Amino acid sequence: VNIPSKLLENAVEQIASLPGIGKKTALRLVLHLLERSPQDIHKFSDSFTQLKALINHCKVCGNLSDFEVCAICSDNRRDQSLICVVEDIRDVMAIEQTQQYKGLYHVLGGIISPMDGIGPTDLNIENLLQRVASGSAKEVIIAIKATMEGETTSFYLYRKLEPYVVSISTLSRGLAVGDELEYTDEVTLGRSILQRQPFDKSLSR
Ligand SMILES: [Zn+2]
Repeated sequence: VNIPSKLLENAVEQIASLPGIGKKTALRLVLHLLERSPQDIHKFSDSFTQLKALINHCKVCGNLSDFEVCAICSDNRRDQSLICVVEDIRDVMAIEQTQQYKGLYHVLGGIISPMDGIGPTDLNIENLLQRVASGSAKEVIIAIKATMEGETTSFYLYRKLEPYVVSISTLSRGLAVGDELEYTDEVTLGRSILQRQPFDKSLSR
């Protein structure tokens, strides 16, 4: 794409830096934005500036939140004896959507991936161990996708959690191997939480 304006090109480059967006699509979106009022554009850019500046990771579970402690952790109607460990906020949203789970979460912020240089210390794991060592958790559900990195992460967590928790479980595999939790349909995901199985049983699969 040969763009005849440096200003236009800069904006297109920014949009095209997002995953899954090519230059043509970026150009179409930027031209659309250009039609909007200056107030609209300000609102648009301001929402990202505010997001980046003000959003927190919940100090208990690591979930994204507008507050120091997220709405799920501060909800005392939820079952404090259950912690479901997930990769990121999209998994929390997917599981919440099923309306089948009333416990708490712990958000790792990624999974162990030596290829990408991500080790256990890069993730929100130490907090999890402290949480189960000092808290009221009776069961930890490991809800991480069954890719190679996911399985490595799950097994690592299992070994680390074993001394602290009474029960460690994992989702039942209505989920196909490698399914992203967020793309699984609600019914299947809901069922796989309700029918979760002891983690050590899943090892002999
Ligand atoms: Zn939280």
